[in-house]
Amino acid sequence: MGNEAYVCAYCERKIRSGVEVYGLGVKLKEGLEYPGAVGRTMTVHLPVRGRELSCMVTADGSQARLEGWDLIFMVCSEKCGAELKSLLEEEKGLFEEIM
Ligand SMILES: [Zn+2]
Repeated sequence: MGNEAYVCAYCERKIRSGVEVYGLGVKLKEGLEYPGAVGRTMTVHLPVRGRELSCMVTADGSQARLEGWDLIFMVCSEKCGAELKSLLEEEKGLFEEIM
């Protein structure tokens, strides 16, 4: 991960490098993809909540992609992960599956 700084997708706090990072993987609905951002950070718009969340698009051949995830949301804690998960579960038009 190098020195790249991540921001928690849920509370938007900076995640310091060196601390354990929690990631929430999601599988997009058929036909949805973000080919322009593969392997990079991008923002996904959630129509139900009207929020923009930052996430990583999994790179081809990466472990996360091999496990079937299209996007990874980085979160700062398990608590944020759980909050984020319930938020994402409301966006039934976007996500097929949430880890
Ligand atoms: Zn957080």
